[in-house]
Amino acid sequence: MDKKEDIVKQFATYCSQCDGKCCKRGVFTVFGWEAEKLTLENKDFKEADVFDERGGCKDIALHGLCLFSTKTGCKLPMELRPTDCISFPFYPKLKETDGVLEIEAILIQNECPFSEEISKNKELVDYMYNYWSGIIKNTSKQEITDWIGENGLWGEWYKNAIEVKKT
Ligand code: SF4
Ligand code: SF4
Repeated sequence: MDKKEDIVKQFATYCSQCDGKCCKRGVFTVFGWEAEKLTLENKDFKEADVFDERGGCKDIALHGLCLFSTKTGCKLPMELRPTDCISFPFYPKLKETDGVLEIEAILIQNECPFSEEISKNKELVDYMYNYWSGIIKNTSKQEITDWIGENGLWGEWYKNAIEVKKT
């Protein structure tokens, strides 16, 4: 099974009770290569607002409900679904050792109504730890740093996130 599909399946218990709150945030971050793919495949995406850029990474404002959202969920095929969408509410807390980025812990953003439950789901935490390990392995340090942002993600929520270490 595709890894992204597998992750979405793992989230289903929670997301099926939530009505896609995270798709209504109206904002997500994309790697440069994700932005290129989305622009090629979706003309609407060009009209979305880029409100911040760090290297090739872009923060996209989508004015309320995401333009890819439908009544039956996200219309993007799994291969085009941005890392941020697959990962939410999980993000990696990184440390650098001898120039190499490593995951110190997983952070769970409390904007998700199930963040507490999710933080106790060891299987899902491990899944996301492995997912991010793969991304970090296959992405340049600069791109990861750009995506995460110099000061560690986007604003105040980072300080209030639930932190979980891999067991
Ligand atoms: S906010 Fe949380 S529970 Fe709701 S759709 Fe997003 S990840 Fe799923
Ligand atoms: S791209 Fe899809 S998963 Fe991501 S916010 Fe938009 S509708 Fe939701």
